[in-house]
Amino acid sequence: MDMNRRHFFRVSGAGLVGSSLVALGFSPSAALAETRSFKLARTTETRSICPYCSVSCGLVMYTLGDKAKNVKSTIVHIEGDPDNPVNRGTLCPKGAGVMDMIQSSSRVQHPQVREPGSDQWKRISWEDALNRVAVHMKADRDANLIKTNAAGTTVNRWNSTGFLISSASSNESGYLSVKIARGLGLVTLDTQARI
Ligand code: SF4
Repeated sequence: MDMNRRHFFRVSGAGLVGSSLVALGFSPSAALAETRSFKLARTTETRSICPYCSVSCGLVMYTLGDKAKNVKSTIVHIEGDPDNPVNRGTLCPKGAGVMDMIQSSSRVQHPQVREPGSDQWKRISWEDALNRVAVHMKADRDANLIKTNAAGTTVNRWNSTGFLISSASSNESGYLSVKIARGLGLVTLDTQARI
């Protein structure tokens, strides 16, 4: 390259100014990256699991408004969790559209019960719901547990209730759910992931 003394100082000076700006945090690439993080700057980051299938991909959900007074928080963005070893930041089209399900007006967000003989669903608290489940499970198990088979061998089978396990469970919580259900004698298990 043909470079005289004046040209050399001009190029060196420009390089020095450029690198100083970078050192001060004014690099163009950093500025572009900052545009993206700015969009999510006021959000709260929550990690969760995609509820759709048994792959159980990790999600990062960004919520806006939960730090402001009198404002209802809203999920504004969802993406794959890059730290989750299952999906490493990726999501299939179904999982990538999970925000539509979360914000759907027809989504059931509270426990409800339809009493025998009623055609109406009634909203109840989570505590009531869990108590009712426990009471019904115990009553049914007490009435229907099969302790021994025809040969007299202990089997402890509980065939009159089924157990549906969440597809939003991790491997570990899925394992524990099956252990608890089998420990109670339940034979019929399935997961919402197959529905
Ligand atoms: S993102 Fe797709 S593959 Fe992953 S859990 Fe959800 S539905 Fe399954």
